Formats: sequence, structure tokens, C-alpha cells
Amino acid sequence: MHFNTFVALGLASVLSARAALIQSCTQPNTIALTFDDGPFQYTNELLDTLKAANIHATFFINGQNYWPELKDDKEKQAVIGRAAAEGHQIASHTWEHLIPEVNGVIDRQATLESLGLVESLVYDNAGKYPTYFRAPKGEIDEATVNLFESFGYKVIQWDTDTNDWNNEVNGVKYKNYNARVKYVKKFLTDEYNQKKPNYLVLMHDVQPHTVQKIVPYIIQSKLFSEYKFVTVAECLGDPTGGWAQAGNALSILGGGNPPTLNTAGNTVAPADGVVAGTGVAGTGVAGTGVAGNGVAGNGVAGTGVDGTGVAGTGIQNNIQGTNVQGERSIPGDAMNLQNTSGAMANTVSFYIIATFLLSTIYMLL
Ligand SMILES: [Zn+2]
Repeated sequence: MHFNTFVALGLASVLSARAALIQSCTQPNTIALTFDDGPFQYTNELLDTLKAANIHATFFINGQNYWPELKDDKEKQAVIGRAAAEGHQIASHTWEHLIPEVNGVIDRQATLESLGLVESLVYDNAGKYPTYFRAPKGEIDEATVNLFESFGYKVIQWDTDTNDWNNEVNGVKYKNYNARVKYVKKFLTDEYNQKKPNYLVLMHDVQPHTVQKIVPYIIQSKLFSEYKFVTVAECLGDPTGGWAQAGNALSILGGGNPPTLNTAGNTVAPADGVVAGTGVAGTGVAGTGVAGNGVAGNGVAGTGVDGTGVAGTGIQNNIQGTNVQGERSIPGDAMNLQNTSGAMANTVSFYIIATFLLSTIYMLL
């Protein structure tokens, strides 16, 4: 088999290993509290509560939703930086709580711009870029999940909807504050009693009853006390934390490739270690396909593969040129950082990559 054909097969196998909509955690005994639609006037109070309990959560934020003035108000934006600094994950929920469409068809360019605005907002306040996404109202079909994955985002849903946002659940109306609090407390108690392996919980920090009553109840009642409260990235075993050193959408808008092109970006990092550590890089294997899938963008560039002559295949050249050094002008150090933090143990993808690398080594012997 020709070497380049093999490279292409490698690329295809990596691409086909992409994840779909993520509805649950994978790590046992974890609970990931998630808060959508903020930041808002209650978010700082929620951060105080979480900090006191040493709980890390995930915020799927909008740029313009409950706080229309957020985009121009640095003081309000500071809550984003505070949340990140206190160990919470910040993720994207679109700029205006919608995925832009034209005549019922998703507007790719406007969607990228919406994501790019959130990326800039988060970077300006947290110094790093979000790579996780949740669709507004969770309304997303498979094609759209694939689109967001092609942008480099992990698309997150939930498996435990508290309905804290909902005035009416299963035909029963919960009009006032106390009725809603009572409903959610009972719901969470029932969920806890099922002793599930893990929980990915949907809540909203724009709801006063959630911040003032429900989260304090979760903590004080010691419901879920044998579970570890973690971010979504942590509950998925993703050591990137859901952060990147470059913006996915911003990179595409700038003419490059997303730095975390999903499965590859987050899962192949262990393979990078294998490649670098075993010297396989010297054979050029590191440059095949794996690099082409954006794994290079996550650290192969920093491993010295660049200098091994792999660039001569053209693939590596191309990727390096557009993805790493070229359009986004990411310094080598940044990529190295990303590499070291990119070690997620997605077993399936890892085996695909490992098998591919081993096959390639065999070819070269
Ligand atoms: Zn929402």
C-alpha cells in the first residue's frame, strides 16, 4: 500500500471516531452541575456558595441574554474571569441564545461569528478559550452536532434536567417560587435515590430560586455526598478542562483549522506521548494522518516531529502552515502547553490511533 494511501486511511479512521452528542458523564461517582444562560445578577452569589463548598461546576454562557449590557460592561464581565479563576469550566451557549438560521437552515458563517464572540468574551476575561458547547434549549439535531464538532467543539446535553426553568412539568403548574423549589428538591432526591453511576445536571444561574434555594439544598442536604462534584470536562475525564489556547471558531474565521478538532484534538494526546517517548516520531509515523487531523495542532508540533522530515509528506506541511504557525500565530510554547494538557483517555479513539500507528510501524519495517 502506498504510504499516502495509508495516511488517508488513518485520517478517515480518526475522523469516523468522532463522538456524538454527549448526554452523560463517563467517570464513575461524579456529578457535574451545569448552569446555563448566564452570567446574570445571581451568578456571583452562586459562585460564593460553590466556593464555600469547594464545588466546581460548568457555566454555559451567553454574551447577550439576561444581561444585554454584558458585552460593554467590564464589571459585569468580571464574573466570567472569577468563575474560571475559581476552577469552574466556562463553555459556550451561543452569543444570543440561538443558533442563527436563514429560512430554517443553519447559517454557518453567522454561527461561527456567534461562537467567535463568545470565545473572545471568555478569553478577554479568563485568558483561555472554551471548547465545550451546549445548544440553546438543548435543541440540536445530529447534523448540527456534526457541524459543531467540525468546528472543534464538544456538544454537551444533560441526563438530569431539574426543570428549574420550567413553570409546568408533566402538566403540573409550578407558578410560584416555593412551589418550584419544592418540585426541584423532590426531583433531585428521587434522582439521588436511584444511585446512578454519575449525573450531568441541568440548572440555570439566571433563576433566583436555583441560586438561593436549590444549590444550597444540594449542599446542605448532603444529597450526592458520595459523588464528586466536578466540571463537565472532569466528569468526562478530559484533562484539557474544556479549554484551549486558541479559539475554535475564531481560528476558522481566520482561515485556519480549529485547534481542538474534536476527537483528535482531545483524545490523541496520549498517542503523542507514545510517539514522542518511543522515538517513533523519528520514523515519520507521527506525521501521518494523526498530525493531519489536528493532533499536530495539539502538540505534535511541539514534540519536534516538525524537524524529522515528516514535513516532506506535504500533509504535515499543510497542517503546520495553516493550523499552527501560520494564521493563528500561536507560539510554540502555547502549543506545548496544549499538548501537555491534552491527554484525554477516550479509549476508543486511542485504540484506533494506536492500531493505526502500530500498523504504520509494521509497514515501515
Ligand atoms: Zn439556555
